[in-house]
Amino acid sequence: MTIFRSASFKLTVFYVLIVMIISVAFSAAVYQISAEEIGTCMNRPTTFLRQLPAGNPFHSMLGDLDKIRGEQLAMSRNHLLTNLIYFNLMILVLSSVASYFFARKTLKPIEEMMETQSRFTADASHELKTPLTAMKSEIEVTLRDKKLGSSDAKKLLASNLEEIGKLESLSNALLELARYENKAEKNFEELSLPDIATTAFEKVEKLALMKKIEFETRFRDLKLKGDEQSLTELFVILFDNAIKYSPDKSKIEVIIRKEMRHGEIQIKDHGAGIKKEDLPHIFDRFYRADTARKKDNKNSYGLGLAIAKSIVDFHNGSISAESRSGKGSTFTVKLPLS
Ligand code: ADP
Repeated sequence: MTIFRSASFKLTVFYVLIVMIISVAFSAAVYQISAEEIGTCMNRPTTFLRQLPAGNPFHSMLGDLDKIRGEQLAMSRNHLLTNLIYFNLMILVLSSVASYFFARKTLKPIEEMMETQSRFTADASHELKTPLTAMKSEIEVTLRDKKLGSSDAKKLLASNLEEIGKLESLSNALLELARYENKAEKNFEELSLPDIATTAFEKVEKLALMKKIEFETRFRDLKLKGDEQSLTELFVILFDNAIKYSPDKSKIEVIIRKEMRHGEIQIKDHGAGIKKEDLPHIFDRFYRADTARKKDNKNSYGLGLAIAKSIVDFHNGSISAESRSGKGSTFTVKLPLS
């Protein structure tokens, strides 16, 4: 981005200016002290000769010595000045290179964050626009129909309601994301991991029954400090995905066990799996693998796993996925125990 290029340039100039002010001030002090020191050293022989008793033959040499001393002093001071100028030029070149490097390093994370943010805004606007455009064109076409009957009007309203439902679930997902990203305060309470998993399962049970999917669980009773609502949401997202991307009559395994100081939750399905090239991106906001796009899930925006990651980060945990295309996926969540 051009704004960051100019900011890097300004920051570089600022850093170089600081370094050069220090370097020039330091050089001026060195010049002052050294010039005085050289003068004192060169004065010593003539001072000694002047102290000799009058009539000493060396007195006649004083005039010549003073001349030579003056020339030597000027030469030494010039030499010192030239060296200090070269030294400062070298500092200028080195500090420019180093300053540009550090300015880029300082601004890089901010630039990346801005890029992510603007990509997010563009994606969110696109997703919001799609149902709105569909609704608008449907209404326009229907209004042009002069013989519009009540059944057509009902059909239109039903279709509009569906689009409103999509908008509602998208705005809910966006609010959910914002909730964790801006939440500084953590009102955690003592919770039982198996209880949360059970509550979440009850919310998706209907979907599992519809696809005749069996849940196999191995729970160890572990306690942790957390936010009940968001942790339930985390399980719902992972269970919902596992069901969504699994074939009918398959099995989903849910394991809760202890791993050092963490509670480890594993959700293993035997579904479509995730392609190797999609795997690094699935936690990105609005990322949907091709398989998911083709399914054209009504409320699938590629935000579920981004929300899951925000919830896990909020609890200082970690989330990862392993998968082989066509063989199923395993999602592993690690949360610090009380
Ligand atoms: P979506 O709402 O599209 O499911 P998510 O953020 O929950 O969005 O998931 C992102 C993508 O990760 C999905 O589009 C899908 O391709 C992939 N994915 C997530 N969970 C699974 C799973 N259990 N099996 C296969 N693919 C999955």
